[in-house]
Amino acid sequence: MNEEREKEEEAVEKRELIKDGKRLDGRGFEELRPIKIEVGVLKRADGSCYFELGENKVIAAVYGPKEMHPRHAQDAKMAVVKFRYNMAPFSVDDRKRPGPDRRSVEVSKVSREAFEPVIMREFYPKAAIEVYVEILQSDAGTRTAGINAASVALADAGIPMKDLVSSVAVGKIDGQVVLDLNGTEDNHGEADMPIAMVARTNTITLLQMDGHLTAEEFGRGLKLAMGACRQIYELQRAALIERFSSSNSGSKSEKGGNKNGT
Ligand code: ADP
Repeated sequence: MNEEREKEEEAVEKRELIKDGKRLDGRGFEELRPIKIEVGVLKRADGSCYFELGENKVIAAVYGPKEMHPRHAQDAKMAVVKFRYNMAPFSVDDRKRPGPDRRSVEVSKVSREAFEPVIMREFYPKAAIEVYVEILQSDAGTRTAGINAASVALADAGIPMKDLVSSVAVGKIDGQVVLDLNGTEDNHGEADMPIAMVARTNTITLLQMDGHLTAEEFGRGLKLAMGACRQIYELQRAALIERFSSSNSGSKSEKGGNKNGT
């Protein structure tokens, strides 16, 4: 165990997630973890994105629109969106048993629903749009990182969307409402509330809560998360603009498909 980790464990044992007004990783209460976004990282997918949120490392890949199989599952009026969230066995401290489990089925479902108001499914009757989110390394907030990555990958694939979806969690540690809990904070904190939002219209498309917040804390947390979603939205947009301006000038590898950005 490295020194930093030892200190963290010690503080956790003493139930001190906040010290001298700072969190254990040095962040203020309203501070996001560092974010890194790369667009178009996979050659074979129609759209893709690598997303880092602190220690979370996530890849999203989008395929489609393509013919929906099995055919009986087609929707004659619009495309069907499939969303698969998966944690790699090596993404957590102890090896995670590979394959779907109750949690990943739930995260896949709520993540798919987070995109329902934005993907213009009516453009592609009988088609399927497949979204894969792979968690390579996890440190809490993986569903929010996955949604952010998927949003950019969908845009990279040229899937028509009303806007991007941005996502972050807020929660409570040592009685304080804080933004974007890391793994230690999530494990030892009092509440965790992931949200997803269409930043331009303030439409909330996902809201879950684990633990307890008072009505006042809920209101404050929601406001904090909405502000952070706007910050993330700007980073997503900037990454897409960079991707498409560099591919226009020919400096990035060319990929086929219908690229139109957002
Ligand atoms: P999220 O990652 O969206 O915050 P959870 O709150 O369910 O989702 O999980 C918090 C963290 O707990 C995850 O990011 C991960 O680091 C850890 N975790 C989740 N599932 C497992 C598992 N099966 N084994 C080990 N750690 C896990």
